[in-house]
Amino acid sequence: MLNTRKSFLFIILISALTLSSCKTSEEFTGYSYDPEGVTETSDREINHQNKRTIGFLEDGVWITNEFRGSRVNDVIRTGTYHYRLQINPEISPINNSPWYGFQVWADDTTHVTLELTYTDGRHRYRPEISYNGGQTWQKADSISYNREPETRIGVISLEIGPEPVWISAQVPQTTTEFREWSDRIAKKAFIQRSVVGSSHQGRPIYQLKISEYSGEPVKGVVLIYGRQHPPEIPGYITGLHFIEELASDSDLAKKFREYFDIWTYPLMNPDGADNGHWRTNSTGVDLNRDWQYFNQPETNAVRRSLLPLLNRDDRKVFYAIDFHSTGETVFYPILKEIETFPHLFTYRWLDEIKRELPDIELNVEPFPTDSPIAKNWSHKTFGIDAVTYEVWDGLPKDQLEKLGTESAQIFMEMMISEFEKKMK
Ligand SMILES: [Zn+2]
Repeated sequence: MLNTRKSFLFIILISALTLSSCKTSEEFTGYSYDPEGVTETSDREINHQNKRTIGFLEDGVWITNEFRGSRVNDVIRTGTYHYRLQINPEISPINNSPWYGFQVWADDTTHVTLELTYTDGRHRYRPEISYNGGQTWQKADSISYNREPETRIGVISLEIGPEPVWISAQVPQTTTEFREWSDRIAKKAFIQRSVVGSSHQGRPIYQLKISEYSGEPVKGVVLIYGRQHPPEIPGYITGLHFIEELASDSDLAKKFREYFDIWTYPLMNPDGADNGHWRTNSTGVDLNRDWQYFNQPETNAVRRSLLPLLNRDDRKVFYAIDFHSTGETVFYPILKEIETFPHLFTYRWLDEIKRELPDIELNVEPFPTDSPIAKNWSHKTFGIDAVTYEVWDGLPKDQLEKLGTESAQIFMEMMISEFEKKMK
């Protein structure tokens, strides 16, 4: 009797263990804020934005989306000089990163009110405004902009004339601006720009490889990804400053490049950037959920370009960073109990940044490695430590530069000492 009871308990115990192990190995299907089916990364139909200029002849007011990085799907006149702009995402449901971008002008100088309303989203981004065709930008102040507390509609009210006023969720960064930036940085002799693949719509996926000759028999490699999510421009800009600092002429950067190469893909979703998407590429897929099956040409191109590193005796991958933006500046490291190389680097780096940049509020939220994102693929493929580097999407531009530049300096100092510990 006792024996039977014991074996009965034993069976219960075994089934409990089996159940719990099933639970931990359950496939990742999305974060709490993701729409259902986000890890199904095959192509899907998207809602295309019609490009057109809408004119209201009775007021002499014009609104257009006929440029790169724009988004406004419809405009309704609700009264004299009052308009309701309808902004729709490329797929729905979708994460709430409601990108918009349009230009507005009037035959005669007048005052207009523009209400920003969304399908499958709520107003989020304080408008950036340019009166000179995008040369300079200002964040809308509380006189020209407010978010209705009850309806949470964004309302912009400003004076316009015959010169188009450009209004955008963030200062625009399309393939045009990226091309200018990368033309400039690739002039350096040790930076190579190459095309590793192309997007669905045929835009190049660029790799910038920073590799300076040195006598080291084995160099470390740092991987940097960016802009998988089109509206996340503050993270993208921070990433560009970060890369520029690694490529700079400072003694620190020169020393760093004796030990390390940098393989970067700063703009991974050029179709999404140029089409003013909220989240996905041109076939409606969240690229940062495609790092398991690689169904999309953008993610697959980056993966194919990196895999040869596994077979090289003269290179050892050390670390990966994936730049994003969200409602706070936060690092998403790998859980401490998961073994990485160099172990716990992200946590040590974060502590150092917090010490040296006390003005910037920097948070931390560790994650397991089960989701099909760039960080986890880098960790699983190369055994390395890696981080998703999220920058607050309201951080002022000068702070983006400071964060990118100074976190890069701390990164280089710490990576140099890791290299000397492990490779010398
Ligand atoms: Zn993101």
